[in-house]
Amino acid sequence: MKLYNTLSGQVETFVPQSEEHVTIYTCGPTVYGYAHIGNFRTFCSQDIMRRYLKYRGYNVRQVMNLTDVDDKIIRNATEKRVSVDEYTQPYIDAFLADCAALNLEQVEEYPRATRTIDDMIALIQRLIDQGHAYEKDGSVYFNISSLPSYGRLSGLDRREIKSGVSVDADEYEKDDVRDFVLWKARKEGEHYWDSPFGEGRPGWHLECSVMSMKYLGETIDIHGGGEDLIFPHHENEIAQSEAATGKPFVKYWVHCKYLVVDGKKMSKSLGNFYTLRQLLEKGFSPLAIRYTLVSGHYRKQLNFTFESLENATKAIERVEAFYNAIAQTANQAPADPAIDEKIIQYRERFVAAMDDDLNVSGGLGALFEFIRDINILYADSQVPADNRDAVLGFLNELNGVLACFNLEQDMADEEIMALIDERNQARADRNFARADEIRDLLKEKGILLEDMREGTRFKRMN
Ligand code: AMP
Ligand code: ZN
Repeated sequence: MKLYNTLSGQVETFVPQSEEHVTIYTCGPTVYGYAHIGNFRTFCSQDIMRRYLKYRGYNVRQVMNLTDVDDKIIRNATEKRVSVDEYTQPYIDAFLADCAALNLEQVEEYPRATRTIDDMIALIQRLIDQGHAYEKDGSVYFNISSLPSYGRLSGLDRREIKSGVSVDADEYEKDDVRDFVLWKARKEGEHYWDSPFGEGRPGWHLECSVMSMKYLGETIDIHGGGEDLIFPHHENEIAQSEAATGKPFVKYWVHCKYLVVDGKKMSKSLGNFYTLRQLLEKGFSPLAIRYTLVSGHYRKQLNFTFESLENATKAIERVEAFYNAIAQTANQAPADPAIDEKIIQYRERFVAAMDDDLNVSGGLGALFEFIRDINILYADSQVPADNRDAVLGFLNELNGVLACFNLEQDMADEEIMALIDERNQARADRNFARADEIRDLLKEKGILLEDMREGTRFKRMN
C-alpha cells in the first residue's frame, strides 16, 4: 500500500513500525461551534484510511483529540459567562452524533485538551529543562532556533526565522514564523489553570504532541489533518515532540486538501459553509454527503455543489437497488463460475486503486463496473440464486471500506421480535406513545407490522 507523505513530498510504500499495529493520530475539531462539511471532508478521508488499513489486515489504534480550549473557546465562554466545559459540551455531543451519521467508525480514544493539562505542563517543563523553551512575562515560548530541523514539514526558509521574537496567537501565517507559545499567561477575566509557570492556559499546538505521545507512544505511524494544519500546527507539534524525545515524532504525514466553494476554502470565517444539519434539513441523506466528500481524491481540492450531492444520491440508489435485486433473485439455474471470476477481478481492481494512495474514485469505479458487468451477464441482476451470497458478500466487503451505502440495513429477526414483544407490553400497560414509537422505528427500517388476532406479524418491505 502506498501513501503520500507530506514530509518527503513523495508517495511512499507504507510500512508501519509494527506489522500488525498501526498508530494514527488525527487532529480533531475545535469544539466552539458545529463542525462544517469541510471539516468532515478531512475526517471522512481519515476514516476511509482507517477502514482500508483494517481491510488490509492491520489492527488500528487511532486517537482523535477534541480541542476544548483555545482562543475562540475562551473568548466565547467568557462572553457567555459560562465555564469552558458548559460551553463546549453541546458541541462535543453534536460532533460525535454527526460522526455517527456520516458512518465514521469510532476511534479508540477521543481525549480532551482540558483533561490533559497536567501532561502538557510536564512537557513544557521538560522543554524548559532542555533549553528549548523560555519564560517571558508569565508565558512560556518554544525557541524555534534551538531546533535545526524546524521548518522541514512545511518547507520553511530558515532565514525567515525571527529568533527571540514571539507570537501569542494560536493561529498565524508563514510570514510570522516566530517562537510560538506553549503556555499563555492568564488575562483578566479569562479562564485559567495553575502551573509552575503561573496561572494561564496551554497553547493550542501543545495538546496534540502531548496526547499523541500519551496514547500512542513517542513515534507514531500516521498523523493526519487538513492541509491548513501543516503550518504552523504540525510544524510546531514536531518541534515540541522531537525536541523533548530526540526521536522522530511521525513516520507519515497525511493531509487532506480543502473542500472549496467557488474556489475558496469552506470555512467559518468566510461564512461559505454548511453544517451537516443544514444539509439534512434540505433533504439530503448523510450517506450522500459522505459519498460526495470521499469520492474525489483526498489530495485534490473538492468543489462543493448541490449537483454533486444529487449525483451522489443517484449513485447510492443504483448500488442499493442492485443489492436488493440480487438479494431477491429467483433464478434457479446452477451457480455460474463467471460471476466468481468477476468478483476476483474487481476485488483486484478495488485493491489496486485503494493501495495507490487511497484512490477512492478508482475504488468506486471498480464497484460500478462490477455492477454493469453483472447486469450484462444477467438482466435485472437475476443471477443464479447459488451466486447470490458471494455477490452480496462482495458488495458488503467493499462497503466495509467505503461505508457509503445502506446495504444490510435490515434488523435481525430476533431484534424485531424483541421490539414487537416490547410494543405489546407497552400496549398492555396503555403506554401508547412508546408503542407508536416502536412501530415508527421499525417502519423507518422498512419493516411493517400487522396486528392479527393470533399476534403481531412483520413484513420486510425490501
Ligand atoms: P478545526 O475545527 O478548525 O480545528 O478543523 C478541524 C479539521 O478540519 C482540521 O483538520 C482542518 O484542517 C479541517 N478543515 C477545516 N476546513 C476544511 C476544509 N474546507 N476542507 C477540508 N478540511 C478542512
Ligand atoms: Zn492537532
